[in-house]
Amino acid sequence: HHGLVAPEQLTPMLRHYVELKAAHPDRVLLYRLGDFFECFFEDAITLSRLLELTLTGKEGGKAVGRVPMAGIPHHAAERYCAELVRRGLSVALCDQLESTPAKGELLKRGITRVLTPGTVLEEGLLAARLNNWLCAVVMEGACWGLAVADVSTGEFRVTERSGSAGLHQELLQVEAAEVLWPGATASASATPCPTWCPEALRLTPLPRTPFEAPEASATLKQRFGLASLDGLGLGEAPLALRAAGGLVAYLDDTCQTRVPLDPPTTWQAGDQLVLDAATRRNLELTKTQLGGSVHGSLLWALDRTHTAMGGRCLRRWLQAPLVERPAILERQGGVSELVADRGLRLTLRRLLRPMGDLERLAGRAGAGSASARDLVALADGLERLPQLAAQLAKATSAPLQALARPWPELESLAGELRHALLDTPPLSLTEGGLFHDGVDPALDELRNQLDDQDTWLAQQESEERRLSGLSSLKLQYHRTFGYFLAVSKAKAAAVPEHWIRRQTLANEERFVTPALRNREGAIQQLKARAAQREYELFCALRIQVGDQAAAIRTAARLVAELDAIGALAEVAATSGYCCPEITDPAGPEARLLQIEAGRHPVVEQLLVEEPFTANSVVLGAIPEANPKAAPRPDLIILTGPNASGKSCYLRQTGLLQLMAQMGSWIPATSARLGIADRLFTRVGAGDDLAAGQSTFMVEMAETANILHHASERSLVLLDEIGRGTATFDGLSIAWAVAEHLATPAERGGIRARSIFATHYHELNALAGQLANVANAQVLVQETGDALIFLHQVAPGGASRSYGIEAARLAGVPAAVVLRARQVLGRIEANSVIQVDQDEPSGADGALAA
Ligand code: ADP
Repeated sequence: HHGLVAPEQLTPMLRHYVELKAAHPDRVLLYRLGDFFECFFEDAITLSRLLELTLTGKEGGKAVGRVPMAGIPHHAAERYCAELVRRGLSVALCDQLESTPAKGELLKRGITRVLTPGTVLEEGLLAARLNNWLCAVVMEGACWGLAVADVSTGEFRVTERSGSAGLHQELLQVEAAEVLWPGATASASATPCPTWCPEALRLTPLPRTPFEAPEASATLKQRFGLASLDGLGLGEAPLALRAAGGLVAYLDDTCQTRVPLDPPTTWQAGDQLVLDAATRRNLELTKTQLGGSVHGSLLWALDRTHTAMGGRCLRRWLQAPLVERPAILERQGGVSELVADRGLRLTLRRLLRPMGDLERLAGRAGAGSASARDLVALADGLERLPQLAAQLAKATSAPLQALARPWPELESLAGELRHALLDTPPLSLTEGGLFHDGVDPALDELRNQLDDQDTWLAQQESEERRLSGLSSLKLQYHRTFGYFLAVSKAKAAAVPEHWIRRQTLANEERFVTPALRNREGAIQQLKARAAQREYELFCALRIQVGDQAAAIRTAARLVAELDAIGALAEVAATSGYCCPEITDPAGPEARLLQIEAGRHPVVEQLLVEEPFTANSVVLGAIPEANPKAAPRPDLIILTGPNASGKSCYLRQTGLLQLMAQMGSWIPATSARLGIADRLFTRVGAGDDLAAGQSTFMVEMAETANILHHASERSLVLLDEIGRGTATFDGLSIAWAVAEHLATPAERGGIRARSIFATHYHELNALAGQLANVANAQVLVQETGDALIFLHQVAPGGASRSYGIEAARLAGVPAAVVLRARQVLGRIEANSVIQVDQDEPSGADGALAA
């Protein structure tokens, strides 16, 4: 271990390595040696194991002996770094800063790039359709401030609240790539993960100073060129301000160039529909529960976006549905307009399809890492803005009108880029061939001179052809050998005397002439000057684009939203969706949830053999003020055999509510929906088994969470609560939970709108005791020897479970099935379950068998 070796015993090169490593203790340090990036000591061992590299050694000094070394070829560095970052590691690249060392000196090297999971900009390291969120957290007692930024797109938001559960929730929601935390100065591995940090997230502990109020304010003022931070609205949020400042300081520290970032905006907890971790998982919003693939998720069912930025936008909408009626209606208006106007929709989608990722292109231009191809792609996208604007000139909805405007600066920028750059420039920026003629007089002059040289070379070729009598003679060029005359072996003996043999190949001899040799230097020099000039022009052009990054991102965001709206409209129009009516949150129907013939958006797309059976649902009792309206339940007790479609019905109800709050249309014939503040689901247990926890305890913890946080405006979907314990314990818990959910707040309950799927038919008795509870069942048809699943939800409780039928169908021997029937008959005959309604909660219940 190098910690035991005194630095002065090491070779100078390794001493330098150890010094750099001390400044980057938590990063894999890759040190350029010739054609390789090498790392040593512990890092070498880690790296060789992670990337399956050969572990070798290097002489470390007389007293030290060989030290472990592992390396990656420098040309493959990006690929390997991508892998390391993907695994949540940070990497510091130390490159050579000169090609030949000063006499007796070590080659000059320095850190040229730090890659961390939350700060990467390179196209190859980012998932196109995912935002890459870098988070910073500052804690003070029970309060916390959170800053969230995507350096590849420039988005930057902050919030401040109390309670670690909320922080946990926010970090999960954004799927943070990296979480900065001024918790410790020790190395990451030595710091225990704090409880607010979700497992599996990459936590980077940092020194406290940049996160202190004075330093953080100074950082923010400097970064955004502000004399005062008052305009940012962070006066009430000192912890958020500190988190934001620390985050920016970290970026300045790790990114060699200054990545463009918008000034931070604030957000609040109530700004969006709250979805806890279990609900996200259960509803399979962005990935399926088993297998974790996008295929089969809600995102998969809805994502018809054409651009990566549109895909990211849709994903954000889905993860954070709205709660403000005007905002929902505004987005819904855009979707509706595009559903109605098929021609416009198709035209817009055709224009969007080839549009590049303007958001990230702007980011790379601002950070100085954009290639010439990036800028051409950017021009291409920007040129479409006026076309989009023209199409949207008559649009009536706000999200579409937002793009119906001219973008004078961006259009002229696109024009300039087009005028300057070739359509398909090479990947390399230092070898010329990027710019059109007529862009720069100095470049034109160099090119003219090169043309003259070409003319001279052509003359030489015909002259030597004449002198040698070889009519097929060609003057050729090779990167390392320069200009030469190639002749087949057979003819090589007869070449003119002034030809000098340069190189011998299997069937060819290559010659030069003194004249060619003399010219070569001059030509090379001209080429180098031209290439250098092009590089300078390119850098200037890139800075010019970078200066417009903010404007480009503004346009890009509107385009991304248009793409996402277009995608929702496309699904709606082609899959028979309806536009849900969002009821007034201040009106009598604020709590209404009414869906006619709703379908599960994902299952309906996945079913190929049989059609999906549509089902309706009504929830949300009318307040006493309106006695004339038909009674509606707050709680539905849903019974039905296994695999009849109960969970599907629960999930469908949750998904449609969520989609409506995204501003989307929904798969139903009609719907009137109030706005929910939170959506809770407790569906299925399969996923928890893998985590090795007791299913029953997980279920109870999730139930507790729901009972603590649900309100009258929440939608609660529970599937088979109370299964993993003794029958009567389970039944009693289920009963008490259902009762508590249905009981109004005045009487100590919640009165959330809920659907409760259960095998306990006994719960049907609750409907007789509480006016706002109704029973529903999923119908099955019994034929002689089979159960036919109708997937139809109907009023009333199922009279039986069909559990014994299921056992028989599964192949349980006839004798056992027969005996089970007898036992069931015996139990049913002897059991009475009776619960008095008015019992004060907490007293012993008369739940008797
Ligand atoms: P349960 O929760 O009652 O055990 P599920 O909701 O898991 O049953 O449904 C079982 C299967 O039945 C689902 O995988 C789905 O393929 C099918 N299914 C459920 N609901 C419907 C429906 N409304 N129309 C068609 N098929 C359905």
